[in-house]
Amino acid sequence: MPLEPNVMHLPAAEPADAHPELALQLMELLAIPTFVLDANGRVLIWNRACERLTGVPAASVLGTDQHWRCFYSLPRPTLADLVLQDRQFDVPQLYDQHVRRSADGAGLTAQNWCDMPRLGLRRYLAADASPIRGPDGKLTAVIETLRDMTDEKQAQLALEQLATRDGLTGLANRRSFDHTLQAEWQRALRQQQPLSLLMVDVDNFKQYNDAYGHLGGDECLQRIASAVASEMRANDLVARYGGEEFAVILPNQALKGAAIVAERIRCRVEQLQMPNMDKHVTVSIGAATALPAPANEISQLIATADAALYRAKHMGRNRISLTEAWDWAGKKLAQS
Ligand code: GH3
Ligand code: MG
Ligand code: MG
Repeated sequence: MPLEPNVMHLPAAEPADAHPELALQLMELLAIPTFVLDANGRVLIWNRACERLTGVPAASVLGTDQHWRCFYSLPRPTLADLVLQDRQFDVPQLYDQHVRRSADGAGLTAQNWCDMPRLGLRRYLAADASPIRGPDGKLTAVIETLRDMTDEKQAQLALEQLATRDGLTGLANRRSFDHTLQAEWQRALRQQQPLSLLMVDVDNFKQYNDAYGHLGGDECLQRIASAVASEMRANDLVARYGGEEFAVILPNQALKGAAIVAERIRCRVEQLQMPNMDKHVTVSIGAATALPAPANEISQLIATADAALYRAKHMGRNRISLTEAWDWAGKKLAQS
């Protein structure tokens, strides 16, 4: 049965004019999803693998400039369009990962999530787009090849999740906390902004475990974690610091603001309804604020918040205690 290529037409002077039929058949049968735009941005070739990847038959896209609809729900250029329009500087805004130049130095390489409206399921696609030039060097077409990297991307995201999140509560883990605190410290230093830290420790949690079992304790920790997380703003980070202890990083927050957040967390936890429990679970919170200076160290901020937490415990639990760690000159300020 003769193969009917998904091709509109090819201009007479194509590079493959020695064996044009063969070239088209090859393109058609190529296992790599491939499409070609002409110099006006209209679809010239849409091979079978591209049909399979997108769920869009060639007949409905050939000759149009609507190929973006096969990948995205909202109008935006594909990588081939960016090559065609010489818009390589727009690639970083439009793609997750990008290399401005592909290996041949002429095209673009990029990866991102695509909506795939026809299939109804998102795919993570890697695209390579290269210009095709005539003998005079004029751009006559752009070829884009695609690779479905969804499985690899999902595996990578799962690994990242494992490496950065706490398995029980879903909060950032200790490693992620250390990393974020370091980054926020550097940012606060650059911007000369205060940085606050809360240490939140569940009161008498050993007794809770003794009364309700370890699984009951786990569920309690999950509920506390959600309650603390629900009080956060977008730039704050709440982490499981260890056991029944949580840490909250509050960028650009002075001690007064940190105290308000701490008190909100304390109240929120106190109001939590735990299953099969008559008594309310409570937390003690130590808050510290630093105005980072090169001479100061992050460990001092953590130690200061820890000391404040210890004080809150000592003063009877279910309360907050505050310490301003340093002023601009690195001098320790009063405690409250
Ligand atoms: P305090 O008010 O002084 O903080 O008293 P506490 O009993 O909370 O403190 P302590 O350090 O004596 O005990 C902490 C308890 O938290 C003991 C430990 O078994 C429990 N714990 C730590 N991690 C987990 C966990 O992941 N799940 C459960 N269920 N319990 C945990
Ligand atoms: Mg405790
Ligand atoms: Mg503890």
